[in-house]
Amino acid sequence: MKRIEALSPLLISQIAAGEVIERPASVLKELVENSLDAGARNVVVLLEEGGVRRIQVEDDGHGIHPDDLSLALKAHATSKLAAEDPLNHIVTLGFRGEALASMAAVARVTVTARVAEAPHAATMTVSGGQVEGPRPAARSIGCSVVVEDLFGHTPARRKFLKSTGTEFGHCDELLRRLALAHPEVAFRLSHQGRALRHWPALTLEARVRGILGEEFLNQSLAIEDSAGPLHLSGWILHPTAASRAEQYLFVNGRFVRDRLLTQAVRQAYQDVLHGQRQPGGVLFLNVDPARVDVNVHPAKTEVRFEEGQAVFRFVWQALHKALTRTTPGGLGFVGRRSPVHEDIHSEPVQEGPMSPSRGVSGELPLPPPRFVAPSPLPGKIPASPHLGEPDPFHAALYGNSLLPAATLPPPAQGPDASPRLGEENSRVPEPPSFPLGQALAQLHGVYILAQNATGLVVVDMHAAHERILYERLKARHEVAGGGQTFLDPPYFTLSARELAVLESYGDVLTALGLDLALRGPQTVVLRSWPMELSGVDPEPVLRQVWADLEETGQSLALEARRHEVLASMACHGAVRAHHALTLTQMNALLRDMERCERADQCNHGRPTWRQIPLSELDQWFLRGR
Ligand code: ADP
Ligand code: MG
Repeated sequence: MKRIEALSPLLISQIAAGEVIERPASVLKELVENSLDAGARNVVVLLEEGGVRRIQVEDDGHGIHPDDLSLALKAHATSKLAAEDPLNHIVTLGFRGEALASMAAVARVTVTARVAEAPHAATMTVSGGQVEGPRPAARSIGCSVVVEDLFGHTPARRKFLKSTGTEFGHCDELLRRLALAHPEVAFRLSHQGRALRHWPALTLEARVRGILGEEFLNQSLAIEDSAGPLHLSGWILHPTAASRAEQYLFVNGRFVRDRLLTQAVRQAYQDVLHGQRQPGGVLFLNVDPARVDVNVHPAKTEVRFEEGQAVFRFVWQALHKALTRTTPGGLGFVGRRSPVHEDIHSEPVQEGPMSPSRGVSGELPLPPPRFVAPSPLPGKIPASPHLGEPDPFHAALYGNSLLPAATLPPPAQGPDASPRLGEENSRVPEPPSFPLGQALAQLHGVYILAQNATGLVVVDMHAAHERILYERLKARHEVAGGGQTFLDPPYFTLSARELAVLESYGDVLTALGLDLALRGPQTVVLRSWPMELSGVDPEPVLRQVWADLEETGQSLALEARRHEVLASMACHGAVRAHHALTLTQMNALLRDMERCERADQCNHGRPTWRQIPLSELDQWFLRGR
């Protein structure tokens, strides 16, 4: 029988190193974090063979005192913990005092450092338990660490490393994360002697642009919100842009992968994101360091919040608010005007003339003041024009005043614009000031073409109407419930499966103003029907809704089931392609979009409209060159 033996110190540290050092990128992370903790303003990274052969990190931080050099390389020695209650006041990236020691157990590590008080630098090398130094060396104030031949003594571990390209990719990504959280520090990265990255110390916005690209900022919404000790800032991708997006979440300047935060982001995008798209962005959450535990995992990429639920709600709400502002007249796309980090606010920076006045949660967006509209009944929704029958309210507002499309005058031009047909017309009236403009025509029964001050607007009428119905149905369900009753209620015969669905969704349907009652073994009567869908034949919509519900299963929470029913009703109740609309109806739809929250996407996350600026049309036709 084999007897028990105590492990040698080298073996102990090699085993322990497995927790911290997995691959070159984990070495790089620990080294750069040490540089940042030392207050460096410049960090230079030199890699060879993806870091497997050599990783060198140079910094201009405060350095290490020559007498502390051997301690720095020993396990469980750190300069970063407070004397009292140390683990509750962690403000540095490192604190476990084991990174350099772990590296020394699985690679050859050389540390050279100089502090301001010392006349010269000192250097020391540790490799497989062998120590050389410390001895005097030459360098300026700061520290350089070289890690060579990673896992050279532990071939089994080395086998798990991937190709040079893959390992370099991990290092590069790691550095991006650190650089995003530290725009005040300049970073350089070289691989195999080639300089590949240089991010000078600039503003956060410039750093984000440098790392994620101009395109990212153009397609993002700025976030800035606080609640008590919680503060959230950053940029999130507009839902229609969130395709292969990366998500960078930082808590107190530390990159984390946290399920709670990821979930909060996901939930905020819930009804605006298309299919499997990832909600991407860069978000910085700051919390009181005493209320978050970073000592959950050796790699320190996981955190535990003292008040997890409050953090979840705060993050969800901040993003939800921003995403709700994606209406045509609201902030919408940040567009070419990327946000200046210093002056973003939690309220829309500029509200378009038509953006809805937002009440407290649960209140419905009322028509903006410039509408001279009969005030809606308290607690009721503003009248909903059903597209099948022009609503008198809308007809009164737009119907009579609307000029036939072809006779609409061209928009007024700036002084340096190229001459246009019709310019001789001496009275050039103001262009229509609605954000989505005036409807011109319907294209192939699918798109509405409209003219606004910027140029041409193209609207996917089904997608847009679907979003409007969905938001209305949701809002009404939150406020009023109850629906329109029938003089002559319709009866349907249901299949056994439809009946089963009805049973599990009955309460939800009733709460939505869809009151169905059994009138025989397989017969139901529809006693009420949502007001928003008046004029729509209930039977085909209901059958579709049942089919959808049956397919998606019934284990969802009540709220999710409600939204599911509403989404399905909105989709099947929305105006179909090839349904001819009058100009009045098209304009009514445009005006509704301007008032509707989240109107930039349908509830499947597809965009509902696009702007083609006149300048783009001019380019097509080489005008003004
Ligand atoms: P930790 O960062 O958790 O303290 P490390 O093993 O990474 O543990 O580093 C040990 C100690 O070495 C640190 O506490 C710090 O005092 C010192 N040190 C490491 N790297 C640097 C650096 N680049 N500049 C200054 N001091 C450093
Ligand atoms: Mg460290």
